[in-house]
Amino acid sequence: MRYSGDHLCRAHFVASVERRVKRELRAQVDLRGGETIAVGMSGGKDSTVAAVLLREILAERRDVALVGITVDEGIAAYRPAGIASARRLCASLGIEHRVIAYQETAGVPMDDVVRLDPAAIPCGYCGPFRRQALNRCAKAAGADFVATGLNLDDTAQSILMNVARGDVEKLARLGPHAMVQEGLVPRIQPLRMIPEAEVYLYAMLRGIAFHEATCPYAERAQRGRFRDLLNALEADSPGTRHAIVRGYDRLRPSLEVAFPPASLRACAQCGEPTANELCKACDLRDHLRLASEARG
Ligand code: SF4
Ligand code: ZN
Repeated sequence: MRYSGDHLCRAHFVASVERRVKRELRAQVDLRGGETIAVGMSGGKDSTVAAVLLREILAERRDVALVGITVDEGIAAYRPAGIASARRLCASLGIEHRVIAYQETAGVPMDDVVRLDPAAIPCGYCGPFRRQALNRCAKAAGADFVATGLNLDDTAQSILMNVARGDVEKLARLGPHAMVQEGLVPRIQPLRMIPEAEVYLYAMLRGIAFHEATCPYAERAQRGRFRDLLNALEADSPGTRHAIVRGYDRLRPSLEVAFPPASLRACAQCGEPTANELCKACDLRDHLRLASEARG
């Protein structure tokens, strides 16, 4: 591990990941018993490792329930294998598995979005659609928290992206969420301080099966530019990702004071919480309709 100078054998590496995840979980959430945690499961390595570790860390906590949720974005070349992988994982962990499709929430699968609005960056639609679907399904499952597989690289990228856009309000609202807002299930991110390569290595060393594929629309995502930038910075100065996230964590209390969460109301179309008349997902669905009508 170049950022720490540690050279670990297999057993110590595995134990080190587990120790860091346990510590992070404890720092993010105080489980008093009776809670349900919904784990967002794409079937990929990050959410698979997050689910396995949560199951193991909480093995003694019979008073805390886990439920797996997979969002079906409607990407025929990619998603079905991920759903199958998540289903197998939930069966092996002995937890309930629920699937929610964009078809049921946004009313349109991503393959249609790309066809109807080919000029748009698909992830611009997919991100808000996913947040809406995951939140709705988590509420239906009675979940108190939604755990995601977000790793250190994802977290540092999100911080950089919002800084680069000057979107300070969004920066103040990145998870994990300590505050509970009516209608929004707070996010927890147990892998937040684990680099992506270590999540991958951990899964390999433990023989944890996952769905290894990239979304066909991912190459059009802006995030890729920030991933490359961050990888170059990390190669030059190991520890950059940790420094970005730790620095952000120190700034965060001030950001939360300067940008307190807006008061939320129910979206006029879907009922999900939003600061505006319509939530971002419904806004985008209307935008999609207009974009496709304009194309004839
Ligand atoms: Fe959706 Fe973009 Fe992720 Fe593909 S890469 S699943 S389009 S957010
Ligand atoms: Zn809505």
